[in-house]
Amino acid sequence: MNIKNIAIVGGTHGNEYTGVYLIRKLRINQFQEKWNGLNIDLLIGNPKAYEKCVRFIDHDLNRSFGKKDLTDFELPGYEANRAKVISQKIDPKDSPKTDFIIDLHTTCANMGVSIILVNDNIYNFKMASYIKSKIPNCHIYYIPTESYAEHHFLNTLSPYGFALEVGPIPNGIVRHDIFNQTSNTIDVALEFINMTNSGENPEVDNAIEVFIHRKTVEFPKDKEGNINAIIHENLQDKDYQPLKKGDPIFSTLEGEIVTFEEDEILHPVFINAAAYYYKNIAFSLTEKVSVDTKKGLTKA
Ligand SMILES: [Zn+2]
Repeated sequence: MNIKNIAIVGGTHGNEYTGVYLIRKLRINQFQEKWNGLNIDLLIGNPKAYEKCVRFIDHDLNRSFGKKDLTDFELPGYEANRAKVISQKIDPKDSPKTDFIIDLHTTCANMGVSIILVNDNIYNFKMASYIKSKIPNCHIYYIPTESYAEHHFLNTLSPYGFALEVGPIPNGIVRHDIFNQTSNTIDVALEFINMTNSGENPEVDNAIEVFIHRKTVEFPKDKEGNINAIIHENLQDKDYQPLKKGDPIFSTLEGEIVTFEEDEILHPVFINAAAYYYKNIAFSLTEKVSVDTKKGLTKA
């Protein structure tokens, strides 16, 4: 397999500045020359939202890449159009011209460096495993879907690549440490691509730890529908750590403690992420599995 055309997108969410600043830095620093042989397109996803320091103008851009939406030209709103522009530029779903996409994000949640996969092909798992061998504290988070064509993430424009989610960092600022972690991860991914392009088979572990998305958990609400609980302090910042029956998850405004009631141990992510309050989402739950990097995910 030869990966030649790569798109790196920053600012898909306008208030996540790290990606935007990084794209600007890469444009200044002859990034393309450093990776001679690879054709790298550097793109700002949502420039209008970035100008206003908001996640989006009319609709979340990273929920706008389902095949149906991309072919619905009646769909109103800035992001509906922006998704079509990006799709035409980097990768029309029916005739892919970009081989690999890295979509840069940040979060207020304590996610560290998270490699988010939406396609479970072996190449993606091998690459993620290679990144983990170089950046051991990174996490691999896989979000499966029933219908890949209808998956609405920007990354689904190509089967290869990942979304990079780094945190914790507030929206609307840049931090040197988060910036460097993001930049290093891109370098390691491109190094892997260069190696596989030249016929090398980079050494990776036989098995990697992957967190598979299960579901989102909403905040408790009062009769009027307002959120009336806070993430419990024991859960705050405990992204990717095991959550078991009886563990406190919320403290309600009435002073009650709400506990986790699932029988199996699951691993929460995006805990108390600012981006999801408007959807009433408190955190997501994942299942920790071991994936064979030679076979990939074996579906039950
Ligand atoms: Zn984002």
